[in-house]
Amino acid sequence: MGESVLTASRPVLARIADAVGTPTYVYDAGVVRDRYRALTEAMGATPHRVFYSVKANGNLAILGVLRSLGAGADIVSVGELVRARRAGFTPADIVFSGVGKRRDELETAVRQRVGLINVESAAELRLVSELAAAHGRVARVGIRVNPDVTTHTHPYTQTGHEGMKFGVPWDEVASLAEFAAAQSSLSLDCVGMHIGSQIVDAEHYRSGAERLGWLVAELRRRGVRSLRLVDVGGGLGIRYLGGRGMDADTFAAAVRPLADATGLPLLLEPGRFLVGPAGVLLTRCLYRKCSGGRDFVIVDAGMNDLLRPSLYGAEHEIGVIGEEGAAEAAEDGPHQGAVEPADIVGPLCESGDFLARARVVSGATPGALLGVFGAGAYGFSMSSTYNSRPRAAEVLLEGDRWAVARARERLDDLMQGERTLGAITDWTTERDG
Ligand SMILES: *Cc1c(COP(=O)(O)O)cnc(C)c1O
Repeated sequence: MGESVLTASRPVLARIADAVGTPTYVYDAGVVRDRYRALTEAMGATPHRVFYSVKANGNLAILGVLRSLGAGADIVSVGELVRARRAGFTPADIVFSGVGKRRDELETAVRQRVGLINVESAAELRLVSELAAAHGRVARVGIRVNPDVTTHTHPYTQTGHEGMKFGVPWDEVASLAEFAAAQSSLSLDCVGMHIGSQIVDAEHYRSGAERLGWLVAELRRRGVRSLRLVDVGGGLGIRYLGGRGMDADTFAAAVRPLADATGLPLLLEPGRFLVGPAGVLLTRCLYRKCSGGRDFVIVDAGMNDLLRPSLYGAEHEIGVIGEEGAAEAAEDGPHQGAVEPADIVGPLCESGDFLARARVVSGATPGALLGVFGAGAYGFSMSSTYNSRPRAAEVLLEGDRWAVARARERLDDLMQGERTLGAITDWTTERDG
């Protein structure tokens, strides 16, 4: 199966940049569909359902593409619940995950009858039970287990081993599940895991799945009869520069035995795998300069637009888009051709503001359009307005058509809800002791 990705070979990217400006994220809907199908085809006859992890890319149009493919939505906040509902997902199509759900968020989820609430602690489970009872509902819950599987990804993307904040500790799961099964306001539908992100070694899924299989058997032995699903989480890695990704068939081979062993359908929660390769961040080269023996390419996208290089040391493929850049390179001055490695940096007042370090990007001369590839996941969704920079535009590409899916933020948007000092007249006076 060929890997479907959005690459620099699409001339439309230069036209989008001219029309919409930069920085701009472009997502190829065709790539999202290809990746979804690759995953579901790899699962073959194994009963399963894909719940797309909204936090990877919550753009409403992207959510619409995934919904039309039959995906559900995996959310981690009420903000994402609103987003998913706006995109057309019904409550039954939604799984609510996350380690720190507030009472009001859980209450909303219970009242709206979301399909599954994945709890991560005993205290959270008791709270859901209490809220469901108060509203006369039976809440469908899953228990996210910490299967104590050590992944070898960046420390910030590991979640599935002992001593992390995620999941219910392995040795407490069985008794908590028994407690859940005994509550009349709860239906214990699921046990599951989510062991991290950007995982490229299927062995972790295999050992996690084995542990979940053991857990299901143990719970049945203890008389729990309500399980309807097993959740194997997301985390499937994609290929960034010089690395490798998780192959859908390899992933499927690791988790399918769990469905066979338990007779339960699998719930998958991929985010990055579905949308990462479908996105590119378009940015324009502003300047080049040398300083202290280092070469810099200064571009108009920064860490506020794409945080992954600064936060995780992520290495995205970067290339010049279209002919323009290459043509300009030939006639440029001292730093022409960019054959020397250069740091690709943004305009923010932070030394950590870089998109790549010591990278050879030929043709990265002022005015050239660059594409930062594999940026469809955790790109825009992690962006901020730091340095009072309006967030980038987002464009959806559908074959040979494209449209703005989120307008570039305006300068006025930056101060939404703020008041000048002179406009504040409603001070609350505190009278202590
Ligand atoms: C973030 C997250 C996912 C998706 O992770 P990816 O690495 O994008 O696949 C799935 N499930 C849960 C609970 C998450 O928090």
